[in-house]
Amino acid sequence: MHYHIGNMLIHQEFQSGKSCPLCRIRNILENRLTEQYLNDAVMEDDQRKKVNERGFCAHHTQMMLARKNKLSLALQHVTRITTLKGKLEVTYDAKRARKQAEFFAHSRETCVICDSVEESMVRYYKTIAEMFEGEQGFADRLRACGGFCFEHYAALLEHAKYAHGKQGDYVYALSKLQKEAVNALLEDLYRFCSKHDYRNADMPWEGAETALLRAVSLLHGEEAK
Ligand SMILES: [Zn+2]
Ligand SMILES: [Zn+2]
Repeated sequence: MHYHIGNMLIHQEFQSGKSCPLCRIRNILENRLTEQYLNDAVMEDDQRKKVNERGFCAHHTQMMLARKNKLSLALQHVTRITTLKGKLEVTYDAKRARKQAEFFAHSRETCVICDSVEESMVRYYKTIAEMFEGEQGFADRLRACGGFCFEHYAALLEHAKYAHGKQGDYVYALSKLQKEAVNALLEDLYRFCSKHDYRNADMPWEGAETALLRAVSLLHGEEAK
């Protein structure tokens, strides 16, 4: 095992359940980082430099806004806006104006939390493949999970080579369980639609009440709050 990062989180979140375990892991990471960036410790020089350069995306800004430490968030904004102000140029020159436009149009897309989360998630994709290959019992646990959102399904497939000699078994296990999960969801979704016909009022739900929300999660993942 080359990647000693929270195998514990993987064990914890692959317990079963119907939502995507990678979404749950990512949400835990996002919550941790959001707390950390609201903590005074992150205003140390290297962190401040990163915030200056990259800022926060709208989603993670909203997560921080929903938490308590407004002073810390305000200080982060002082530092970021001061950097952006440096790129503001009063000019008559249309070419320079276009250059500014290009910069500011993309200035809201970079995010220090997204950067860290993405870096960690790549390590998780690799570790999961390695655990499938080398950790006893994990392959069965993975086969028993309820599938993934499409983004994370794709990410796991993309990193399948880290299962080394078991790469074929790994992609087979992933694709088979994903297909079964999507079939099951579609059945629930059909039932969900049928239940909206008054003639089916007595038909049991059998868990299909949540089918629409699960369909949205399959397509778009589950966002941290
Ligand atoms: Zn997911
Ligand atoms: Zn972000």
